[in-house]
Parts: sequence; structure tokens; C-alpha cells
Amino acid sequence: MKIALIAHDKKKDDLIQFSQAYKFILEKHQLFATGTTGLRIEEGTGLSIHRFQSGPLGGDQQIGAMVAENKMDMIIFFRDPLTAQPHEPDISALMRLSDVYSIPLATNIGTAEILVRGLEHGDLEWREITQEN
Ligand code: PGA
Repeated sequence: MKIALIAHDKKKDDLIQFSQAYKFILEKHQLFATGTTGLRIEEGTGLSIHRFQSGPLGGDQQIGAMVAENKMDMIIFFRDPLTAQPHEPDISALMRLSDVYSIPLATNIGTAEILVRGLEHGDLEWREITQEN
């Protein structure tokens, strides 16, 4: 499965801890991230990640483009709900596209844990069916 990892600055430490805790699951999948998030996770976990541009420079849109092509299976996006982001339209667009294509998206650690554990149990195998045609 292809998984995108994104965290706003005040949530990056949380996502690194999350990635360390679930490295045993994440390492079995293809990982993508916005620039700074990806670098921090690579440094903090040793996981191999395809890094796009930093979020404010278009990274969220690059992940959105994969969603639009049905090439992304899950998004873990630890948003900071208390800080204004210069690229808010890009964030909204990514979340909108994930709803257009029914891509599971977690915006906080509580949901992310359920998604990643579900992934391990095979709950996302329906995604493979959507990619066969
Ligand atoms: P970053 O982008 O990983 O490059 O910090 C994340 C974001 O702010 O959307």
C-alpha cells in the first residue's frame, strides 16, 4: 500500500513518535511525505520515504495528484488546528480529494492508530480491487 505522511510543524514530534511505534507496520509499505516531515521521519526512524516538496511549496498538492490518479491508499495528516497555515487552500484541497476518492485519511493520532492497525489486519485490501482496472 502507498501511505502519505504529513505533519504540521507543531505536530511533527507526534508523527515521529507514531512512526517509531508503528515502524513494524509502516516498513512493509511504500511511504511518501511532504519534504520536512519526510526528512524528520527518516532521521527519527530509519524508514525509507519518497519525499515531495515541503507542504507550503506544493507538497500537499503533489500528494493530492497521486490521490487523483488513484495511486495513494492512505493519508496520515497530523494537522495543527490552532495555527493558521499559509497553504490552507492546499490542505483543504487534499482533504477534499481524499473524500472524492474515498481514501482513508487520519488527521490525528487517535484515528491514525486505528487505520494503521487496520492496515496490518488487511482491512484495506479493497484498495487493491479498485486498482485492478
Ligand atoms: P512539511 O510540510 O512536511 O514540508 O513541513 C507539511 C505541511 O506543512 O503541510
